[in-house]
Amino acid sequence: IITIEDLNKWFGDFHALKNINLQVAERERVVICGPSGSGKSTLIRCINHLDVFQKGRIVVDGNELTNVARNVDAIRAEVGMVFQQFNLFPHLTVLQNCMLAPMRVRGKSKAEASQTAMKFLERVRIPEQASKYPAELSGGQQQRVAIARALCMSPKIMLFDEPTSALDPEMVREVLDTMVALADEGMTMLCVTHEMGFARSVADRVIFMTAGEIVVDTPPLEFFDSPDNPRLREFLGQIL
Ligand code: ATP
Ligand code: MG
Repeated sequence: IITIEDLNKWFGDFHALKNINLQVAERERVVICGPSGSGKSTLIRCINHLDVFQKGRIVVDGNELTNVARNVDAIRAEVGMVFQQFNLFPHLTVLQNCMLAPMRVRGKSKAEASQTAMKFLERVRIPEQASKYPAELSGGQQQRVAIARALCMSPKIMLFDEPTSALDPEMVREVLDTMVALADEGMTMLCVTHEMGFARSVADRVIFMTAGEIVVDTPPLEFFDSPDNPRLREFLGQIL
């Protein structure tokens, strides 16, 4: 459902992504990890055109990602994204945050958008927070709202960029549980995370990036139990 071929991106002279090749099948769960600055966020951001790339191609569910606005809109409508910093609209309530895109982008009625929003807020187990503003919620609750908001668009793919790394330790679990539930429902997921327990139990493949390159792409068993790449061994030694 995602095909990335020979993707290259530069920030000025800096070569941020080098010949990235990546395929994600429908219902597949792929975890990306790697040291800070290795290009994980840049890669994720290229997939829904938050960053532009200079060479190569990205195809998402049959839509080639070019600068044609129509294709960008088509891809963004199918791809939900959850960031490290929840990125909720502070001046809107939880319910309004969840209703905005379905009404604006999908043309849903207020009643329909509200009903869908409540359904997903129940799914992430915080329906009682619907009329609060983001600032009134804990970090874990805000991140679950961000997940519910993305799901309200009925995405085919969910991209996560370190969704738990801005959270206090006691709130990480509730967000991971939400992600595990999503995986169990068969959602196609591409997750940048250093939660290795999640990677081990949920991922079909784990990818390791360094210096803008994918250097390992393998099932979790091999990734954790017999890493043959020295840089990966060093990385795992630091974080496990
Ligand atoms: P982290 O684990 O810290 O989030 P990352 O793997 O997500 O790191 P990226 O944010 O993708 O790394 O950044 C990759 C490289 O590109 C870094 O060296 C960064 O400094 C550089 N970079 C990212 N965004 C920009 C930008 N807007 N302009 C210039 N350089 C950038
Ligand atoms: Mg990042």
